[in-house]
Amino acid sequence: MITLTVENTDFTPARVFCVGMNYLAHIRELNNAIPTEPVIFMKPATCLVAPGAPLLYPSHGSNLHYETEVVVLIGRVGRPKTREEARTAIAGLSLGLDMTLRDVQQTLRPKGNPWELCKAFESSAPVGRFSPLHPQTNLVALPFIGKVNGQVKQQGNTSDLVFSITDLILYLAGIWTLLPGDLIYTGTPVGVGPVVRGDHLVIEAPWCGDFEWIVS
Ligand code: MG
Repeated sequence: MITLTVENTDFTPARVFCVGMNYLAHIRELNNAIPTEPVIFMKPATCLVAPGAPLLYPSHGSNLHYETEVVVLIGRVGRPKTREEARTAIAGLSLGLDMTLRDVQQTLRPKGNPWELCKAFESSAPVGRFSPLHPQTNLVALPFIGKVNGQVKQQGNTSDLVFSITDLILYLAGIWTLLPGDLIYTGTPVGVGPVVRGDHLVIEAPWCGDFEWIVS
């Protein structure tokens, strides 16, 4: 289990909430319908991989995709009901990779089966170090980049989210009491693709820095 530290406060990740299909161009690239409410799934916190730690290629699939995403760290217990409260619940922001076995997902989807096997396997949630949320941080204007072997594969911006960061916090808080250490992977923009063993993944943004992993 990893510990997440923001400005000298340690958080033990509690739950990893993830959001599917939250950028229009990505929804189109996977030929999916635009959701009318957030598509939520979870990964166990044991899936998290700290920057530089080995990112293991799973053995039960053969088309492992990167999905670069903005990740929100919740800092306090509660059920925010307003956008203001939702913002106050945030302890920090970073980037992460929602690693996905696309071949396994494509066999699960037509059967309507749960997504754990394609999304919640060991090493499926690399996550960067968190930067505190500053008063001037605009949550709907966070640019970020995902690279494979030095080549830019994804260029996203939270301005393109279908459901914004505060929308997602309010939605989740309507169902669960949020806890310090909860993480929210907010969805990936267009440009997902496969990786193989030995690939070098870098995710970066001016507001959090850059983080890297090697697929092994
Ligand atoms: Mg994703």
